Amino acid sequence: MDNGLIVSISGPSGVGKGTVIARLREMMPEVGNSISVTSRAPRGVEQDGVEYYFRTKEQFEQLIAEGEIIEYDEYVGNYYGTPLTPLLRMCGSGQDVLLDLTVPGSLALKEKFEETVTIFLLPPSLKELRSRLEGRGTEDPEQIDKRMARAKSEIENSPKFDYVVTNDTVEQAAQDIANIMKTELNRYVRSKDLVERLLAEQDK
Ligand code: 5GP
Repeated sequence: MDNGLIVSISGPSGVGKGTVIARLREMMPEVGNSISVTSRAPRGVEQDGVEYYFRTKEQFEQLIAEGEIIEYDEYVGNYYGTPLTPLLRMCGSGQDVLLDLTVPGSLALKEKFEETVTIFLLPPSLKELRSRLEGRGTEDPEQIDKRMARAKSEIENSPKFDYVVTNDTVEQAAQDIANIMKTELNRYVRSKDLVERLLAEQDK
């Protein structure tokens, strides 16, 4: 059986990545979810083993030392990392897996597994990004300025990604990503075995 796709989505804070991914999961419920490990505290109704595996910094560092974390990043003072074993299990059983990672996280995963499909989600404009951040009402003006500066440096990294999708509307962005996944499944490398079998087959 062919391995499943590993698809990693990144984008600047406020671009609407979470909403687009939630819509994509509704459209493609069969796609696997990689549950990350984090050292940040659970928020609201978040549960260990559902949104994240919540661990202390020391436990996280132990997992890194054991080689159990395939990529990790520090984001707003906390660790976030992808556990290796479940990812290999899902992908090895032919299931496609979708990951929501920071920009360095997607690039690091691609370094480790070059077959990873990396997708960068862009805002339609910086003005729109700022107004989405302001609309969330979760950050003060100084934090918004910091996120905007960070967004610009993240966008500078978008050429390193395989695909760039603009989040004009959630529906269209989710559909674009679903189309990318479908196209990736039709790449020649994924049909190599079938092509070789067909060429070796006796038709009489
Ligand atoms: P939050 O704290 O809002 O749940 O997530 C913060 C950021 O961490 C999000 O941008 C998300 O993409 C990123 N993130 C979540 N899990 C991982 C992970 O396993 N690795 C990396 N590199 N980033 C992650």
